[in-house]
Amino acid sequence: MKIHMKKLRIIIFLLLTAFIISISLLLTLKPDTVDYKQLTVNYMDIGQGDSILIESDGKFMLIDAGKASESDVVISYLKNKGVSTLDYVIWTHPDADHIGGSAEVMKAFAVKQVLMPHKSHTTKTFYNLLSVIKEKGLKITSPKAGSAYTLGASSFVVIAPNRDYEDNNNSSIGIKLIHGNTSFVFIGDAEKESITDMLHNDIDLKADVLMAGHHGSDTSTTAELLKAVAPDYTVISVGKDNSYGHPAKTTLELLSNNNIKIYRTDENGTITASSDGSKISFSAKEYDFKASKEDKSKTPVYITKTGKKYHLADCPYIGHNKLSISLKQAKERDLTPCSKCNPPE
Ligand SMILES: [Zn+2]
Ligand SMILES: [Zn+2]
Repeated sequence: MKIHMKKLRIIIFLLLTAFIISISLLLTLKPDTVDYKQLTVNYMDIGQGDSILIESDGKFMLIDAGKASESDVVISYLKNKGVSTLDYVIWTHPDADHIGGSAEVMKAFAVKQVLMPHKSHTTKTFYNLLSVIKEKGLKITSPKAGSAYTLGASSFVVIAPNRDYEDNNNSSIGIKLIHGNTSFVFIGDAEKESITDMLHNDIDLKADVLMAGHHGSDTSTTAELLKAVAPDYTVISVGKDNSYGHPAKTTLELLSNNNIKIYRTDENGTITASSDGSKISFSAKEYDFKASKEDKSKTPVYITKTGKKYHLADCPYIGHNKLSISLKQAKERDLTPCSKCNPPE
């Protein structure tokens, strides 16, 4: 009997030890499996232009700062996100819709590293930026394609520019941001010339999210680029009813035909993509290109009995005897849009 009690005690002791060990193992394992450091990419709604705030494990990077008129929006957005220091700023290229707010943003925060292409510009905006960089005692790094950097729990590789270009847009710095098994590509306003060079360097461009270059213009999102990046998602930073006609209808069509989900700052506002290293989730509802096309087909347009064109209601080319039909019907009748009043196409 005595021996039995002793055995029982040993068994209970062993069971308890096993229990404690497994609990402590679970506790140490949990942070790695469940609480993987989060990456957030915030594509800010700043009208026509680009500004993207990236946060990884408490470290921040800003890509561009929109137009000068948007600098307050960018600064308060960053403050709300708890930014005091930017580990990196990337001023992709010296156009006003990318560096317009850069000087004011640099005055408002501590900045560790400035990445800019080897490209100067003659605008006041550009000189303002240079003088703030000098005042802060910072140096400009013009990174070579292939250079790699660390941001918190993430890293990024420079994918462009691969050489010097005449054109500002083609000079854009492009990066591939990597977080665990997920990745994001940014190419500024790079167009065909620079994209062709990107496709011919040895860096793997494959990524989950592509930010459409040059605000969705058809000179940037090419079929070849989409083939190389093969993204599931695309984000377009664009101003509502902008005068450039961005994003191009052909770009939207190309993305939609490739089953790539589209997010647009003019439709969705600021868009936040979060990655836990294996999955990416978006804060906004995706833009439904097909539904918007159908919507548009119901828009009323105006015609005359014999004319070959269709018009807006107040077009000076049609008089009082106008008839109203839908855009879809106008197209079925092979009518073309009037060049004076520019009805929807
Ligand atoms: Zn731009
Ligand atoms: Zn540009």
